[in-house]
Amino acid sequence: MTPAFDFVIVGGGTAGLVLAARLSEDANVQVLVLEAGDDLSTDARVNVPAMWPQLQGTETDWQLKTEPQGALGNRELVIAQGRLLGGSSALNAMNFVVGAREDLDAWAKLGNPGWDWENFSKYLKRTYTVTAGSETVNDGAIQTHIPDEETKWPKVWRDTLAGLGYSVDNDPVSGDICGAVMYPDAIDPKTKTRSFAGNAYLAPARDRPNLTVWTGATVDRILFDHTAEGIVATGVQYFTRDGKLDTVAARKEVILSAGVFHSPKILEQSGIGDAKLLQSLGIDVVVDNPYVGENLQHHPISLLSFETVDDGKEGFDTLDAIARQDPAAVGAAMEAYTTQQRGPFSKTNCNTMAHLPFPGIDTDAGKRELQELLDQSLPPAAASSSSSSLGGKATPAYTEAAESFVRSVLTSPTAASGYYVAIPVRAHPGPSGRMVPAPADSSERYFTVAVLLTRPLSRGSVHLTAAAADPASPGHSHNDNNRSNNFKLSINPNYLAHPLDLEILARHVRFLAGTLARAEPLASRLRQDAGGKRTPPGWWWAADGTFAGAADAEAAKRFLRETAVASTLYAGTCAMMPRAMGGVDAALRVHGTRNLRVVDASVMPFITRGDTMATVYGIAEKAAAGIREGL
Ligand SMILES: Cc1cc2nc3c(=O)[nH]c(=O)nc-3n(C[C@H](O)[C@H](O)[C@H](O)COP(=O)(O)OP(=O)(O)OC[C@H]3O[C@@H](n4cnc5c(N)ncnc54)[C@H](O)[C@@H]3O)c2cc1C
Repeated sequence: MTPAFDFVIVGGGTAGLVLAARLSEDANVQVLVLEAGDDLSTDARVNVPAMWPQLQGTETDWQLKTEPQGALGNRELVIAQGRLLGGSSALNAMNFVVGAREDLDAWAKLGNPGWDWENFSKYLKRTYTVTAGSETVNDGAIQTHIPDEETKWPKVWRDTLAGLGYSVDNDPVSGDICGAVMYPDAIDPKTKTRSFAGNAYLAPARDRPNLTVWTGATVDRILFDHTAEGIVATGVQYFTRDGKLDTVAARKEVILSAGVFHSPKILEQSGIGDAKLLQSLGIDVVVDNPYVGENLQHHPISLLSFETVDDGKEGFDTLDAIARQDPAAVGAAMEAYTTQQRGPFSKTNCNTMAHLPFPGIDTDAGKRELQELLDQSLPPAAASSSSSSLGGKATPAYTEAAESFVRSVLTSPTAASGYYVAIPVRAHPGPSGRMVPAPADSSERYFTVAVLLTRPLSRGSVHLTAAAADPASPGHSHNDNNRSNNFKLSINPNYLAHPLDLEILARHVRFLAGTLARAEPLASRLRQDAGGKRTPPGWWWAADGTFAGAADAEAAKRFLRETAVASTLYAGTCAMMPRAMGGVDAALRVHGTRNLRVVDASVMPFITRGDTMATVYGIAEKAAAGIREGL
């Protein structure tokens, strides 16, 4: 007999485990989680904060790849996504970054009542506890803390930004941040181990008799009944660990929490998507919705690393020796971690950040420059034309809303278009985005600043295409991670395809290289002379060591086309918007169905200004509360 549960949750990741924990608080409902990956909750690579990059490229990472990206010289980029219990929250960089007030208010304005910042914050607050020194704020599930500053780099960062006129005392969990900010690490201050969906949400609920978790179970499609009341999800079909197909029934709801790439994939495999595409693949159409898999958004990233002047003493140590696996440095860091819960292994080492507005927006010249860019890239006629300037199938109404949102951000002196992350180590991604290790025999120290475009206009997509079945691994092919069953996943993020995106990110890179890295006290800590090493290496460093793009916008844009890579932050592929332009409604129910929801990063109609995990936790808390109210 087919087993049956009230709620079948597909994906035991960041959102899926919040739902599992909250829904199973009601002892009268039976909850099942199906997770494709394994449970690595006792693995040091999950728990020891500094080991997080080690899971990427392993079987715990879906290791996806994009289509060639036209605006980036046809490069194909790698995309990491968690494939283990806890999902991406189990292998991510643990920065706990809340969305901005204006992000959430813009979601609500798109026709999503209840998703404005004031209301959403109530659910967000359930997700975190923040400890800073002896002070603890809030009482939510994820344990976070602002780490002690064991080097002088964070202070230098703040002092430099303060000298440039930015505020530096921002509350990291407020929705209104402009300037420098020290974000909390999602690391339990008591144990100095990762706090994530697996140990903060699932572990306390795991012994409940009404909660079942199956790992190694890869969902293939959702099963439906066509009833007089509408389309009802009755369960799912999944591949077991040994590749057999099985089914499980859902008495109340099926909830997709498989993430930005796999939730739309499962919808399309189940017959929900663009009818023309589905028919071309031989899939029976259940609901024709051309917006499933569209609206993929992302923060493109550019990283500049500068050699430091210091020998690491007097508080200016960097992580370079550890990154090179120098035995003495690794041993000392491990010793500090195991005996005192301190040192680089106990933290993310990348919580020193800033959200900055369009460079120069506070000057008349800067305002004029921005106006010219807006006139060129967002001419008023664009919104009324039949094809969207955003790319893909964005409707005129959505295009207008997105353009108006980005316009309002760019013209505001307090809203961020650039998200800056300072890291005391060399960070040099190669053309695909994979990090290029420093030579083992090198001895330099570096300070890196990554800058991300916070409010992109480019829109991409993720859709099924036909592929030959892989008989060796029917549920998921390890030879080609974009493929499963008879389909392949075509991921086209359209990085920097919108002309305004390239212009704005170029302005931030110019500001970073030409102003920020040359302002005191940071400037004195970085080698400014021609002999100083910098990455990425290339023509963009002039003979005197200055960045060619600092004085020349065209050079900065060319630099980005050749070197910009993908950050790990994605959203939007089952966007919460009315039926005429989105994938799910404001209750996160898939349009055209009665009891199928999507609850994960794919429902964000606009990606938030920074990292996405905290917002995903908040979305899942809000969804769980809504579902329980309806029980
Ligand atoms: C390397 C990396 C670093 C990051 N760093 C940060 C950071 O520091 N701060 C931050 O805020 N954000 C960060 N992010 C982004 C953040 O982690 C994600 O936005 C968020 O965790 C997404 O949550 P989700 O629930 O949408 O998906 P996920 O957490 O990815 O969960 C999806 C789950 O569904 C499972 N699944 C997929 N398909 C199937 C199927 N067919 N059957 C069964 N199960 C399936 C997956 O295996 C996975 O466990 C990072 C992401 C990555 C990949």
